[in-house]
Amino acid sequence: MKKFALAGNPNSGKTTLFNSLTGSTAHVGNWPGVTVDKREGIYKKLKEPVAIIDLPGIYSLSPYTPEEVISRNYILDEKPDCVVNIVDATNLERNLYLTTQLLEIDVPVIVALNMIDEVQKAGDKIDAQKLEQKIGVPVVAISALKGDGIDQLMKRAYECSKVGRNARTVLEGGALSHLIRDCRIALEGAGVENALFHAVKLVEQDEIETKQHPQAAETVQKFKETFDDETFGSDFEAIVADSRYKYISQNYSNALIRSGKSGKEKLTRSDKADRILTHRIWGIPIFLVILFAVFHLTFSEDLFYLGSMGALGKDWVSLQGMWGEGVFGSAEGIASPGVILFNLLDCITSSISGAISSAMNNGGVAQWATGLVVDGVLGGLFSVLSFLPQILLLFMFFSLLEDSGYMARVAFILDRLFRRFGLSGRAFMPMIMGFGCSVPAMANTRTLADENERLATIRVIPFFSCGAKLPILTAIAGGIAQMTGTGNADIITYSMYLLGIIVAICAVLLMRSTTMRGEVSPFIMELPSYRIPQAHSLVMLLWDKMKHFIKKAFTIILASTILIWFVSHFSFSWEYLSDEKMNESILAGIGKLMQPLFTPVGFGSQLGEWGWVFVVAAITGLIAKENVIATFGTLATCITGTFVADETLGGVDSVAQMISATGIGVPALIAFIAFNMLTIPCFAAVATARAEMPSKKKFNYTLLFWVASSYIVSSMIYLIGQWWWTVFIWAGLWAAAITVVVLYNKGKINFRIKKNKITDKRS
Ligand code: GDP
Ligand code: MG
Repeated sequence: MKKFALAGNPNSGKTTLFNSLTGSTAHVGNWPGVTVDKREGIYKKLKEPVAIIDLPGIYSLSPYTPEEVISRNYILDEKPDCVVNIVDATNLERNLYLTTQLLEIDVPVIVALNMIDEVQKAGDKIDAQKLEQKIGVPVVAISALKGDGIDQLMKRAYECSKVGRNARTVLEGGALSHLIRDCRIALEGAGVENALFHAVKLVEQDEIETKQHPQAAETVQKFKETFDDETFGSDFEAIVADSRYKYISQNYSNALIRSGKSGKEKLTRSDKADRILTHRIWGIPIFLVILFAVFHLTFSEDLFYLGSMGALGKDWVSLQGMWGEGVFGSAEGIASPGVILFNLLDCITSSISGAISSAMNNGGVAQWATGLVVDGVLGGLFSVLSFLPQILLLFMFFSLLEDSGYMARVAFILDRLFRRFGLSGRAFMPMIMGFGCSVPAMANTRTLADENERLATIRVIPFFSCGAKLPILTAIAGGIAQMTGTGNADIITYSMYLLGIIVAICAVLLMRSTTMRGEVSPFIMELPSYRIPQAHSLVMLLWDKMKHFIKKAFTIILASTILIWFVSHFSFSWEYLSDEKMNESILAGIGKLMQPLFTPVGFGSQLGEWGWVFVVAAITGLIAKENVIATFGTLATCITGTFVADETLGGVDSVAQMISATGIGVPALIAFIAFNMLTIPCFAAVATARAEMPSKKKFNYTLLFWVASSYIVSSMIYLIGQWWWTVFIWAGLWAAAITVVVLYNKGKINFRIKKNKITDKRS
């Protein structure tokens, strides 16, 4: 099968094109660096099916970061039948820079002038034919988003792939053309493939090349000594780059017809927005407010705090009772969109389990079987699924922020802050992705050039609470809000997210100033233009997330809940136990055995007879974080059934009932959230971390790091929450730790044993 590779600058629309060619739903983002690994799909509208390969974005073929190496090696080693060079037509000059390098490889190239719709909207024109004559390879104007011109593009790419193409360089006739030719001849003599490309890279004194071809590199070195250019001295890399840009501006300017006015107008509007959104001082507070608004719209039971401000009036109390059973709000206030969706789904699921339960009871099914189906399976599954609307809503908001181009601005404002902690703003992207799922986020750290920066980032990614951890946060935040009688679940969830971010920053700071020092990658991300988010790609993304979530619910989580139900309803002698006797079960036995381990973090031995459920839930979370709440759901009705229902809680859902039945306090509940958020992530994330780490040792340290972070932070929360004066002890401990780090950095403390002592004495 023929292979066509999509290559181009970051954010030029490669993945959008890939998706519309292959019908896939790969993640598209208005952000450079979304695709960090190559991806394959099949295009079927030609005479024969062809494989399409989406490569990570690159600015040039001299790689600096691991993901740039992937693209370069693919084009050089895998020899695709055609390279489709996607070019952002709104930013032609910079994008063609890569094109001039692709031309130097013996591979058919076709240029796809993407985003032509934007060019037209701005009133500009690009003459594709003129450009084609100048560059010497086919140029096709397309809009990947709207699908315009893409079949034409593929047809011409197919023709190209049949003919083949010989490399040529735009550096001919320049100051270095003789040197390039000499190198090329030498390399061809040595039987090197793509001699021209390597010759140019050698002249540019690309590090990889110089190592690979030491002999030819010597020729370059000798020539260099005799050479002196007026502007650049003997900086060959700069001379080559300059000649490329000169070539581009000579050849593309007459293919581009600007209308002038509209372009400028657009620029100033986005500039005005940027002046506020990326403001030196206000940038970060604005971001925090936007983030809070997102949480408020997703989790608040009192929209805009109208209820607590008393703005709803008397009529509201009577009105809200008429609309369903409090779906749209309660006496406290109007529900946010997220809560409304949650309530609606809750109505559906509770009527389903009610119907099944009464059908099974009437049908004379054995009591244990009813228990398994209704409490075990449905209780567990529904308690997890009930959070799906809020998860999707949160993803939708994040995705809107990303697509509009705002998230790239946030990376820009955070860069200044991050740099102090030894990270670049680039690391922000994988972290934000961590709010969705740690697995792709960890893979995305390949955009970071410094190995230690990458490791530190991978380690803290799980602290950015992922979608699967959301049910833990929401369920327990809801429980706390109900126990304490305040309706601010949104503030609790928001604070827990912030806690994760703060712990991540502190941990990075600590790592980067002790064992994991290194250079901070330069941050040369350009800001993408503001765009109106596309409904289509949003729907695709949410649909994908939903499928993934439901699939997981009906596989891993379903299996886990069934297992949990069995081990909680059978004793070690395989005797069936009714709900009241669950304390004698296998699960309770194991839980109680491990309970002391969790005493320092608040949900260990100090809890009453049902305290072990927290321990068990946290442990099942190591498989998938949804399991924490699924376990609660499975055990909740059994436990609450053995208590007299707490009247003050009214019609609260069973998980909240269970929490209050165990007698756990608020500090321990918050510590429980923190523990689950910071401890070893789910199985899939652990496996990804292992794959992305250079050595087993580093990975083992990572596991240790996760365990330590979760213990330290959650015991701090628990102890301070329980006995406020321990705050002084903690402050003292931290001051001591920071002093040690500072002294260590100044070289006043040395933990290493000096090995060269003996040799020193002899000399
Ligand atoms: P990649 O980084 O090269 O893979 O780029 P993406 O495919 O992720 O797209 C980057 C951004 O450009 C997204 O916001 C897309 O919606 C947008 N985009 C892609 N193609 C077009 C197009 O033809 N027209 C317009 N107006 N926007 C596009
Ligand atoms: Mg991409």
